[in-house]
Amino acid sequence: MRAKKSKKTPILKGIGVSSGVVEGKAYLVERQKISAPQYYIEKSKTPNEIKRLERAIALAREQIKSAHRKVDPQEGRDIIYYILDAQLMILKDDMLIRSITDHIEKDRINAEWALEKVLKRFGDIFNSLEDKYLQEKKNDIDYVGERLLRNLMGREQETISQIQDEVILVAHDFSPADTAQMAKGKILGFATDMGSRISHTAIMARSLEIPAVVGLENVTEYVKTGDFIVVDGLAGEVIINPTSVMVSKYKEKERSYRFSFEELLKSRDLSAETRDGFRVKLKANIELIEEVPSIREHGAEGIGLYRTEFLYLNRKKPPSEEEHFRNYREAVENVAPHSATIRTLDLGGDKYASQIELAEELRSSPGLRAIRLCLKDVDLFKTQLRGMLRASAYGKLKIMLPMISEIKELHQTKEILEEVKDELRTKGIPFDDKIQLGIMIETPSASLTADILAPEVDFFSIGTNDLIQYSMAIDRVNEHVAYLYDPFHPAILRLIKRVVAAAKESKIKVGICGEMAGEEIYLPILLGLGLEELSMNSISIPRVKKIIRSITYKEARELVERASALKTAAEVEGLVRNDIKRRFPEINYSLKEEIAYGA
Ligand code: PEP
Ligand code: MG
Repeated sequence: MRAKKSKKTPILKGIGVSSGVVEGKAYLVERQKISAPQYYIEKSKTPNEIKRLERAIALAREQIKSAHRKVDPQEGRDIIYYILDAQLMILKDDMLIRSITDHIEKDRINAEWALEKVLKRFGDIFNSLEDKYLQEKKNDIDYVGERLLRNLMGREQETISQIQDEVILVAHDFSPADTAQMAKGKILGFATDMGSRISHTAIMARSLEIPAVVGLENVTEYVKTGDFIVVDGLAGEVIINPTSVMVSKYKEKERSYRFSFEELLKSRDLSAETRDGFRVKLKANIELIEEVPSIREHGAEGIGLYRTEFLYLNRKKPPSEEEHFRNYREAVENVAPHSATIRTLDLGGDKYASQIELAEELRSSPGLRAIRLCLKDVDLFKTQLRGMLRASAYGKLKIMLPMISEIKELHQTKEILEEVKDELRTKGIPFDDKIQLGIMIETPSASLTADILAPEVDFFSIGTNDLIQYSMAIDRVNEHVAYLYDPFHPAILRLIKRVVAAAKESKIKVGICGEMAGEEIYLPILLGLGLEELSMNSISIPRVKKIIRSITYKEARELVERASALKTAAEVEGLVRNDIKRRFPEINYSLKEEIAYGA
């Protein structure tokens, strides 16, 4: 986003997605093309530089051979063999290697620079050729060149879990697999070019309780590894190399944020009930089993959404039935007497499994995602269902299906679930025979047919992150269209209203587990719409509880009445803001982020 220059200190403005303020050393994570360092060397250092090059070449050969071994010798894989062989040939090419060493010796430059020079010369020659086939060969050379460069710079294997220092990460974007590795405690916060409030990277930051700012557009151009930066997750700002006066100001901001949060935590054990007695259940969304202790600490009544896809990340093979069982058992036992709603695998879209050998189509946004993938790969699905059913013998476990778009998917799932139950019965393995089955309402088609779906399930949970994404035709990770993610849009309010009405008609429970449930500004409307269960990241619970305990259901219903007559999201937001301002004058409501995180 825009960069404000305050004298010499650049302040970048993005989207604050996670609470708190943190300062520290930046670490730039480069996932894109890397640029080579360029420096002159003394004559005596040239043999050493040539040795570095030889080691990088030997390593590249090993890497390619190992990739070669992993290729399945099936039909259609010949092309991969061919490409790998071509790359190996390039690495054996005397002329290429000789040209690089010549540059090192004659120009007395480092190996990376020499490599770049040679690649550029070869590139120019290939570009000038008429022959399309020969032009294509340039790609192979570029690919080998990139690999050699990474090997020379020791970059190839960099993963977040290997970072040893306490740092603030800066990157173009992080995949959920990256964020899952941040759980180890070394990462103080992060800032990214891409992302929105509801991208999974942002959701993960809230779960990990680390400050983060996303959607900065060009933070990676401004920040270098080693810069001292401040990440202000409350205001959505990144400050690069601040003055000591500025650092003290941000430290004070962090202290007062922590203090007000501790104050809120004191009402952790009070019930979430409006002044006129409307009772709401506040539950926790979790991504990792390690978050379970934080559920109680923040006063949640069980788990409303366990995003189990995180079990599948950073590994080559999907989890075994035993792993599923152990995780889910731990979840249900730890939230007793409350329940744990465990969602079946929702891989795809912006949360692909980067290292699991699954279909490439997973990466496209409304593609082979979630229930669609499970119904295609029934073994994968059954393994998880068996783990869930077995864990249901140890506490209150509910199964929830993501991304249902039509009733047929529900029917197919029920059949598969029955088969798994039968298998367990035959083997005499205990499970909860009355286990509840619910669905997420997160596609426009599911919300418009909620009356058809409701009689078939035990509960609905509205996934507003995707519901808004797919209704507004936006991509939830794209910062350029993040402005269209607006839960106050009349279309979204109408969809939610419809879903709640269908649920009440069929006498099933209905809640929300999208990010809007945890943001105070939406609460009066959600209460007025009659939602009885709100599931959110644990840290939002104390603040949400405070708002619920301060208003009446009657007022919330009246607000919804008035909002329903309005034509734009801006009008609805204005109405709600005024209402909240009247009731909570102590809070500064100038920014949505501030409302959500109480700056
Ligand atoms: C949602 O879509 O609102 C939701 C809760 O699911 P996820 O964010 O995991 O897609
Ligand atoms: Mg979703």
